[in-house]
Amino acid sequence: MIYKEKEIQILRKGGQRLSSVLRKVAKEIKPGISTKELDNLAEKLIREGGDEPAFLNYTPDGAKFPYPATLCVSINNEVVHGIPSDKRILKDGDIVGLDLGLKHAGFFTDMAMTVPVGGIDKEAKKLIEITEKSLIKGIAAAKSGGFVGDIGEAIENFVKPHGYGIVKILGGHGVGKKVHEDPYIPNYGKSGTGPKLVPGMVLALEPMLNEGRDKVFLDNDGYTFKTRDGKRSAHFEHTILITESKAEILTS
Ligand code: MG
Repeated sequence: MIYKEKEIQILRKGGQRLSSVLRKVAKEIKPGISTKELDNLAEKLIREGGDEPAFLNYTPDGAKFPYPATLCVSINNEVVHGIPSDKRILKDGDIVGLDLGLKHAGFFTDMAMTVPVGGIDKEAKKLIEITEKSLIKGIAAAKSGGFVGDIGEAIENFVKPHGYGIVKILGGHGVGKKVHEDPYIPNYGKSGTGPKLVPGMVLALEPMLNEGRDKVFLDNDGYTFKTRDGKRSAHFEHTILITESKAEILTS
């Protein structure tokens, strides 16, 4: 999908709103708050802006029922797509992945970040820092005339020396008219392979890194992916626009 200037203006506005909402939600993170409270806040802020949650009632490929919330909240060994609950209370030392999608004037943007709850150990700090940096490396590799594989290779090369597991069965994707569009964007791979990147493409890049091995499994709640070895995971995501020069981050 190649987006036109008018559509890009809408996506840019939506991306700014999404980023503002997600940052406000992240600021509320503290020990004792439930993941459902974070979800309620995200939905309220999105609707106050006149927009709609993208994930609420959305059924991704392969899911058996629609996603029941606005926000995904994934704690520690949960990788992505954790369902908010008033029974899940954040504790000091947790790390929490927040993933949020927003529909503005008919167009979708997608963003995620991992944040600390209270004081976290230095291993968790490093995992978060490297995951965020790996996203920036991926974005830097997303250039017009290049290929989807350039992004994966840049992320993989950056992550490898740190020994983290790169989640292989989930990855980035096109976004815009739909929440998930082609192309699929693995967080590993080989430069010069895969679909070509051209100006006007809008992509959600989202590396997920595990402290331990890369293997994950789907919990029997039908949505939450967890690390198989029980170690922690972090996730960052931006929606970007491929341009003639460097990629523009729409959710910055
Ligand atoms: Mg996404």
